[in-house]
Amino acid sequence: MTAQGRIVVALGTRPEIIKLAPIIKLLGRRARVVHTGQHYDAGLSNVFFSAFDLPEPDVQLEIGGTTRASQIGETTQRVGEHLLSDPADAMVVQGDTNTTLGAALAANANEIPVIHIEAGLRSFDRAMPEEHNRVLTDMLSDLCCAPTKVSEQNLLDSAVPTSRIVVTGNTIVEALQALLPAERAGLLEAHNLTAGQFVLATFHRPENVDDPENLAAILEQLANIPLPVVLPMHPRTEERIAGFGLSELLTGIQTVKPVGYEEFLGLSAECSFLISDSGGIQEEASILKRPVLVVRRSTERPEVLGTFAERVLPGPEIGRVARGWIDDLSALHHKLADLPSPYGDGTAAEKSVAAINRLLGGG
Ligand code: UDP
Repeated sequence: MTAQGRIVVALGTRPEIIKLAPIIKLLGRRARVVHTGQHYDAGLSNVFFSAFDLPEPDVQLEIGGTTRASQIGETTQRVGEHLLSDPADAMVVQGDTNTTLGAALAANANEIPVIHIEAGLRSFDRAMPEEHNRVLTDMLSDLCCAPTKVSEQNLLDSAVPTSRIVVTGNTIVEALQALLPAERAGLLEAHNLTAGQFVLATFHRPENVDDPENLAAILEQLANIPLPVVLPMHPRTEERIAGFGLSELLTGIQTVKPVGYEEFLGLSAECSFLISDSGGIQEEASILKRPVLVVRRSTERPEVLGTFAERVLPGPEIGRVARGWIDDLSALHHKLADLPSPYGDGTAAEKSVAAINRLLGGG
């Protein structure tokens, strides 16, 4: 092992690429990027590599969309085989996906340290597959990079020793700062939108889109919001809407294909508010000072609840909160403008890489 170490960075989905990009950049030539292919849609993967100006992944496993068990199992097997043929000194994983857990298991089985970026998040909702992925990955990890004090405390409560935890902030801050477009008038014009006069929505979680009643309730609520609603449609959501025969509920909603990161950030910065079941969007809302209505049973990001975020269930609550916000948008925006984001100051990648170097004995 060199003093600095050879580090495999495993990823497979859109949020992993976004949040690992600042770390891959800092690691430079030490990083070997292994893409599992969990998100194989170009609009959820390739465009994010080019947006961050990252080189193509070193290894493409093309595992693709199968069941959760087979995704985790195949990731463990294929990443494990890769580590045998091309050894490394450490493995970096991020978040809570099947890729995260599968790659952490592979590294553990090959006796190399696991570093978990965005460790310690907890929804305490055992019906969420992601909750199991994140808890198990934290347990396997030799270094847990916790974004906030809340996540640090969750790790301590899970009996992870202090020596394995470092509070870093979340790398989403520097990812966003790197790609938020300064010039946004053209973007608004391309979507036929007026600044501060539209809602940006995203939905893809199984609890919302795999249940026809919840999905229909969400679409009905979106269509009745008295502002234009733009909905970049995740492939899973598009498939379910067609499969459940709900396409007519899209009338009145401005649907688009998933957009690139710069475009999504530009729209987020200019919207009145967001409605979403995404994890990362709750964090971005706090950086961009936009309110977000979180349509979920639970959230692993309690840091923003009651300030930047309000959580509701699919159904009439969505319209009720949305109309309340629309009634006094400028006061709401004004209130959020001076609130700091709980996710740090844009040095999470730096702090994480410094901790990785200490772990590997390189200073
Ligand atoms: N995002 C994007 N284009 C879109 C929708 C979302 O770039 O059309 C970004 C968004 O800014 C956020 C991330 O994708 O950073 C969220 O991904 P997702 O909701 O798939 O995952 P989660 O954060 O819920 O794990």
